[in-house]
Amino acid sequence: MGQAGPVGAGGGPRHTVNVAGHEVGRDFVLVAGPCAVESEEQTVGVARRVKAAGAHMLRGGAYKPRTSPHDFQGLGEEGLRILGVARAETGLPIVTEVMDARHIETVLRVADVLQVGSRNMQNFTLLRELGRVDRPVLLKRGMSATVSEWLSAAEYILTGGNEDVILCERGIRTFETCTRNTLDLSVVPVVKEQSPLPVIVDPSHGTGRASIVRPMCLAAVAAGADGLLIEVHPAPSAASSDRDQQLTPDEFTALAPVVLRLVTHLLNGGVQP
Ligand code: PEP
Ligand code: MN
Repeated sequence: MGQAGPVGAGGGPRHTVNVAGHEVGRDFVLVAGPCAVESEEQTVGVARRVKAAGAHMLRGGAYKPRTSPHDFQGLGEEGLRILGVARAETGLPIVTEVMDARHIETVLRVADVLQVGSRNMQNFTLLRELGRVDRPVLLKRGMSATVSEWLSAAEYILTGGNEDVILCERGIRTFETCTRNTLDLSVVPVVKEQSPLPVIVDPSHGTGRASIVRPMCLAAVAAGADGLLIEVHPAPSAASSDRDQQLTPDEFTALAPVVLRLVTHLLNGGVQP
């Protein structure tokens, strides 16, 4: 944590974030798992499949920020317990969302990385509290946030004393309706010019369409992303949330080695995006 990684596009040293021995910002990271934790069978089953395919971390929401209060809100503490089982079974570190500063202590019992979702990017109370926590934070870009606002949100955490922030581009709201959001891959090199923090890309929320997650993953790698966050569900059409964008375990198993080969190919070819 805190040590200088490889030189970034802006020429300065990169900050790397240690997650269970993985130096995010130096070591490419594949984060995969369901949108929401729905059951032990679902989450542990997916965890085993994504681990076998090459994922480095498991994602899954126990607290879900849903647009409608009538939609599934997540399993809460029971969801966290399930994530703990998935980690014990697979050894995968856990990335899970904390929606409310009052939940930090509880989420810290299981999370290796605390996710701040798009809707909370400017929840300054939450960000300040996370600045006092000794655990990496994955800060998603707000759906209408400029890069400057996003980096200022990160500053709230950094200035509180927690240097371990991983940025995550997850698409922004534009006039285009053919995708759920517009995945803004240009921010990968832009952020690298302006910040030493690692930046990963979430093509699942960034597109909302499972069929175009794969090409956007490859494009994100080519743009220099330090990792990918991909939603994977055993039966996407029956999921409690984000049905249209989650990959099946088979689709992820086909995709992951291609992504990892591309990363290696670029590295071995000396190509710095
Ligand atoms: C998520 O990753 O589960 C999520 C809710 O994403 P976002 O905050 O980007 O919408
Ligand atoms: Mn989701």
